[in-house]
Amino acid sequence: MEKCSKCGTSFEEILETGFVGCEKCYEMQSMKKAVDKLFNGKKHKQN
Ligand SMILES: [Zn+2]
Repeated sequence: MEKCSKCGTSFEEILETGFVGCEKCYEMQSMKKAVDKLFNGKKHKQN
C-alpha cells in the first residue's frame, strides 16, 4: 500500500474519500496512474 511521504495519506484512503491530503499525494505512483486514467476518460476530444 502506497502512502504519501508528506502527509501519510494512503492511496486507498484517497480512493475512498475522494480527497487528497496534499499536493504530494499526486506524486504517488498509483495516484499518477489513477489520474492518468481519469484524465484519459474525461478528456475532451481535441481537433
Ligand atoms: Zn499527501
